[in-house]
Amino acid sequence: MSTRRDFIKKVSTGGALAAVGALSMPSFAFAAKSAKSANLNISLQEGIAIGKSLDEKLDYMEKLGVTGLELGGGNLAKRVDEIKKALSNRKIKVSAICAGFGGWLLADDPAEKQKCIDSTREILAAAGELGSVGMILVPAFNSQHSYPHTQETRDRLVADLKELGAYAHEHKTSIILEPLNRGEAFYLRQVADAASICRDADSPGVFCMGDFWHMTREETSDRGAFISAGKYLKHVHIASRKRRIMPGEDGEADNYIDGFKGLKELGYEGYISFECGTKGNKEETLPAAVKLIREQWKKA
Ligand code: MG
Repeated sequence: MSTRRDFIKKVSTGGALAAVGALSMPSFAFAAKSAKSANLNISLQEGIAIGKSLDEKLDYMEKLGVTGLELGGGNLAKRVDEIKKALSNRKIKVSAICAGFGGWLLADDPAEKQKCIDSTREILAAAGELGSVGMILVPAFNSQHSYPHTQETRDRLVADLKELGAYAHEHKTSIILEPLNRGEAFYLRQVADAASICRDADSPGVFCMGDFWHMTREETSDRGAFISAGKYLKHVHIASRKRRIMPGEDGEADNYIDGFKGLKELGYEGYISFECGTKGNKEETLPAAVKLIREQWKKA
C-alpha cells in the first residue's frame, strides 16, 4: 500500500537517483560500453548529391567521405542492374529506400491497401538485391482516408507489418517505419511510438527511424527519442530545423548534438541521411552541412 509513498519519500530525500539508476542499469551499461564505438555514417538521397549522372554523384559523394546512398522506391526494380553496376568497386552502399510505394497501409479502401502491399513487396525485393538496410514506410499521410486511430487499427497495422516484415527479412532487408510531424501524418508522430509498434510486430524485418526535421516539432528530447527506440532504430534523416534545408542553413537552430549523444549511447551503426533542399548554392551548402555534422558528432 505504501509503495508509492515510499518512492516519493526516496525522491524527496535524494534516493531517487539510486532507485531510477537501479531500474535502468542494463540499458545504460550497454550504452556506456558502446558509446565510443559508434561511427558516423553519412548518407545522401540521390537527388541531393551533385552530378548529372549517378556515377558523377557517387564520385562527388566519395570526395565528401559520404558512405551511404538513399534511393527513391519508385521504379527501383527496373534500376537494380544500373545501381549495382554504379556501386561496384565503391565503398558507398545503399543506405535505405525512401518510400515510392502506391496506396497506403492504413487505407479503409481495400484496393488502396492491397496496392500498398503489392508495391511494397516489389520494392522490398529490389531493396534486398541492392543490399539496402531497409525501405522506409509511412502507414498513412493525413490526406489519405484511413481507419480511425483506434486499438483495432493499431492491431491491424501490427498484423500487416508482421507479414511485410517476414517478407522483408526473407529478402535480407527490412521495413523502416517513419514517424512524421502532425502536419503530414497525425497517425504516427513520435519515434518511441514507432518503436513500440515494432516491438509489438515482433518481426526481424520491422524497424523504425527518426527524422530530425519531424522530431523538431514532435519530440521533447532528441536524445530521449532515439534512446527509447533502442534496438529498433535503423535509420536517421537530417535537415535544417526551421526550413528543411541543409543543416547549418538555419544557423543556431541546427543543433543535433543532443540527438547525436543518444545515437552514440545506443552504439547506433546506421546512417544519418540527408533529406532536405537548400536555399543557397549546393556546391557550398552541402559540404558545409557535412562539416557541421562531423563537428557536432565529435562534440556529442
Ligand atoms: Mg524523412
